[in-house]
Amino acid sequence: MANLLRTIGWEVTVFERARGDLAGRGAGLGIHEELFAVMRRIGIRADDSIGVEVRSRIALDRSGDIICEVPVRGIASAWDRIYRALKDALPAECCRSGMQLERFEQDARNVTAVFADGSRAVGDLLVGADGIRSTVRRLLMPEVEPRYAGYVHWRGVVEEGDAPAALHALIFHHMAFCFAEGEVAFSVPTAPEDDTRQCGRRCQFVWCRPVDYEITLPQMCTDASGRRHGVSIPPPLIRPELISDLREHAEARLAPQIAALVAQAAQPILQAIFDLESPRIAFGKVVLLGDAAFVARPHVGMGVTKAALDAQGLTDALAASGGDLAAALARYDRERRRFGSLVVERGRHLGAYVDAQRSPPGGLQTILREWGAAGVIDGEPISAALA
Ligand SMILES: Cc1cc2nc3c(=O)[nH]c(=O)nc-3n(C[C@H](O)[C@H](O)[C@H](O)COP(=O)(O)OP(=O)(O)OC[C@H]3O[C@@H](n4cnc5c(N)ncnc54)[C@H](O)[C@@H]3O)c2cc1C
Repeated sequence: MANLLRTIGWEVTVFERARGDLAGRGAGLGIHEELFAVMRRIGIRADDSIGVEVRSRIALDRSGDIICEVPVRGIASAWDRIYRALKDALPAECCRSGMQLERFEQDARNVTAVFADGSRAVGDLLVGADGIRSTVRRLLMPEVEPRYAGYVHWRGVVEEGDAPAALHALIFHHMAFCFAEGEVAFSVPTAPEDDTRQCGRRCQFVWCRPVDYEITLPQMCTDASGRRHGVSIPPPLIRPELISDLREHAEARLAPQIAALVAQAAQPILQAIFDLESPRIAFGKVVLLGDAAFVARPHVGMGVTKAALDAQGLTDALAASGGDLAAALARYDRERRRFGSLVVERGRHLGAYVDAQRSPPGGLQTILREWGAAGVIDGEPISAALA
């Protein structure tokens, strides 16, 4: 958002509560041409070299045999690659880390952000791009909460040197899926940390498993000392017995190629899946953007691309408004809410394949085309479907 606003002459400051760099935060990332287009607009060289090619999608049965293949090509990148490119494009003086927003005030002239250290910042517009647990959204609409989807994702990254050589041809060039009862797992290649490295390919597994919210999820998010972390837990604190169980279950339930990745991943990540819809995303001089506004289940692979498209939508609305902020924000609210709702609905639709074991018309072929890193509806990019 900050990069795009600067392209239309705005002065921008990013206030981030975390200290230090966020490059180590994520894992593999499915991306879309729309994200590349936004990055190019900022002046970043964004082409296929920012990721690795996925040649096709394959379904494996429990014994590891290929039972279906669809020739859907894609690019898989990595959180660190996209984050680094966007962060480097922003002058360091625009970024203030260790600044936790606590509240804001607005009147007819401006909006003031108030931070945990007591400091204040005054501006024309406050963009609440503060994620799924957004403070800005909670202040505006405390009743709007993320809704648990009924399942979690386990994820893990395996470095090339740790992946069995016999699997390289499959896991570094294809997305490989395995559908177990009420669950789906897949592997996807992940871009190396930077493109100067000659080797360093990585592969990520994602395993979607039903978990009840009231008892099991809080138990899973309890560390070895008995401390409860709510509905998420920092990966290093996940109890070792949970990881051992995961590996045993993978061996018993998944295709051996994917079970091998579960066995090798050094530090699996546990992510409870939620979706979220905001009934409104513009409030005077304050807007919500990205996950703060809408969260779709990850099956559409749209989180980062949607945040970028929201940012582009806001920038375009501001640029076209001739200084009429209210008109720009009304347009932003209308257009991006429509898009957000559609993507959330799409994520629920794909999620239903898992939790209801519902097979779509077209069966496996359809799931392989639509699942994972593809914001598509009936073969068309979601953005085209909305045009
Ligand atoms: C494990 C995992 C894997 C994912 N994989 C994919 C994928 O493959 N493809 C994809 O497109 N998306 C993926 N996503 C989703 C994607 O990361 C998000 O959709 C995307 O990052 C949303 O961007 P955002 O800027 O809206 O929010 P975030 O990236 O959540 O950023 C919000 C920021 O606000 C900061 N913040 C929060 N509260 C405050 C406060 N009060 N004051 C100041 N700062 C604050 C946070 O520290 C954070 O840095 C994944 C997410 C996870 C957790």
